[in-house]
Amino acid sequence: MTDTIHLLPDHIANQIAAGEVIQRPASAVKELLENAVDAGATAVELIVNEAGKALVQVVDNGRGMSETDARLCFERHATSKIKEIRDLFQISTMGFRGEALASIAAVAQVELKTVREGGTGTRILIENSRVVLQEPVAWQQGTSIAMKNLFFNVPARRNFLKSNPVELRHILEEFNRVAMAFPEIAFAFTHNNMLMMRLDKGSRKQRILQLLGNNYASKLTSVNEQTDYMNISGFVGKPEMAKKSRGDQYFFVNNRFIKSAYLHHAVVQGFEGLIAPDTHPAYVLHIDLDPAHVDINVHPTKQEIKFEDEKIIYAFVKSAVKHALAQFSISPPLDFELDPQIQQLDAVSKPFTETQKQSAERSAMFSSFAQKNQAHLIDRSSDLPEWKSFFSPAATPGDQASFTDIKRGTTFAEVPVQINIPHRYPDAEQVIQLINTYLLLPVEEGFLLIHQQNAHERILYERFSKALSGKAIPVQQSLFPATLETGPADTAMLTELLTDLRFLGFHLEAFGNNTFIIHGTPADVFSGNEKNAIEELLEQFKQFTPELRYSNREKLLRSMASQQSIKSGKALTHKECAALAAELLACETPGTTPNGKPTFTTFRKEELNKTFGRG
Ligand code: ADP
Ligand code: MG
Repeated sequence: MTDTIHLLPDHIANQIAAGEVIQRPASAVKELLENAVDAGATAVELIVNEAGKALVQVVDNGRGMSETDARLCFERHATSKIKEIRDLFQISTMGFRGEALASIAAVAQVELKTVREGGTGTRILIENSRVVLQEPVAWQQGTSIAMKNLFFNVPARRNFLKSNPVELRHILEEFNRVAMAFPEIAFAFTHNNMLMMRLDKGSRKQRILQLLGNNYASKLTSVNEQTDYMNISGFVGKPEMAKKSRGDQYFFVNNRFIKSAYLHHAVVQGFEGLIAPDTHPAYVLHIDLDPAHVDINVHPTKQEIKFEDEKIIYAFVKSAVKHALAQFSISPPLDFELDPQIQQLDAVSKPFTETQKQSAERSAMFSSFAQKNQAHLIDRSSDLPEWKSFFSPAATPGDQASFTDIKRGTTFAEVPVQINIPHRYPDAEQVIQLINTYLLLPVEEGFLLIHQQNAHERILYERFSKALSGKAIPVQQSLFPATLETGPADTAMLTELLTDLRFLGFHLEAFGNNTFIIHGTPADVFSGNEKNAIEELLEQFKQFTPELRYSNREKLLRSMASQQSIKSGKALTHKECAALAAELLACETPGTTPNGKPTFTTFRKEELNKTFGRG
């Protein structure tokens, strides 16, 4: 009998282990940025090519490494950060497991350049965990680590990487988290030789505004509670900034970004009564406590941690948020301002039915909040049911359209309404506008009450969808092309959208250096207003960015529909009202907005008669 067990060679063992730590370019970004922070850097530059598939490089001005350390740092379990097991309970650095560089060296080609103050620089090239070159190099300060051709030696894993826009988004996410935690460090981020972001050092609040956008400038409330056990500090967005989509939520425990559905819940509880149940408040909260009370070593990428006493933390977070909101006397926003009649409308009072809510909660996006290690979860948005199925059933197209399931206000009994529309365009001429927001349209069996903004969103959404599937919207060429300057993050986003935008009538050209030339716009955008239109569009688009279940195209459609729609409160001419009503009823799915809000509600003669005792 021959023996069959053998020890794996180091480089293979490393490759296997690397699977836990380095799953995609963004994982390397996180590890390399954290090493730079641990090295005491005050300025850190991230350079990425091809969404990290070709290159992820981090250059820092930290303390650097000696020649021996430079060689050793790629060994598994090589770390300068802990020495004994009890150090594990007093961790003050981001790293400590000594695995990141070993993992990176196992699955990519790596070039390290580093110098310790007063010493000579060292340059090392590594491939397949083996040093292929080591030489002295003239190097001023700090460390540069470049990871090239990730997974060049593990093609199967390379094939698992997502498209460049998706990988880039993950990178931005990791970059944001590290940059958010360390406002005292200056960061820069370059992608494909284009400077995407430059963050000067500043206060926490300045950093938040740099990363989340200036629209938060007057919309943040500071949180600050100190106890012997722990401190909590940071900011929460005012209730009116709560969004349906998630994305602007950050928790840091001893400066480490963590994910915790449990603590998120605590914050949401702190907002109780101030925000709609299906919206998420924005927050950047730092919890600082004795490292002995947390175990950060429960997960290879350390994004999940265990608190010694979770309940205390929960209660503390909740009351700190409550306290902060009360201090600034932020009162319930919805309760007093809205006319009770309007408040009763489904669109306002219950945008989701219970079943819809449940199916949304079963969606991958929702459940991913509860899943482990989600930063590197494979994006499964393609498996999702069609967005349409989340929301109210559509009316069947055709002459016999029946509008069931579009519920009315609570004035009437909850009976499903059936209205048969005799013609496709039931006397659109008879339409009347009410309080600059609603259109009243008589139909054979009663009347429809149409919400003008919701209706127009639906109309535009369908018009734009058609444009993307071939019937491009005509472009009005500008005689004097305007230029548009954008921030680095917007540049990346806009570049990705150029082709789709063209179909929608926006003809833009990237000019480098965060500049675009506007060659043409849709015919109904006034000249002189092009820049505004595009900026507004980007702003809308951003609100969708965390929504994984939508493609960029879908987000763009929704953004454009909502941005260009006629708003509530706008007086319309009779001609406009008639056109709006007619176009709505000609839609394929006239009953709801793309986001599932009703576009109209129906009133039947018989029901009305009953109400007035004449039924
Ligand atoms: P860990 O961060 O868990 O210690 P790593 O594999 O990330 O493990 O790094 C190994 C060691 O290499 C670190 O402990 C540190 O001593 C050294 N090192 C890594 N990156 C840098 C850097 N940018 N500057 C200085 N030293 C570094
Ligand atoms: Mg590290």
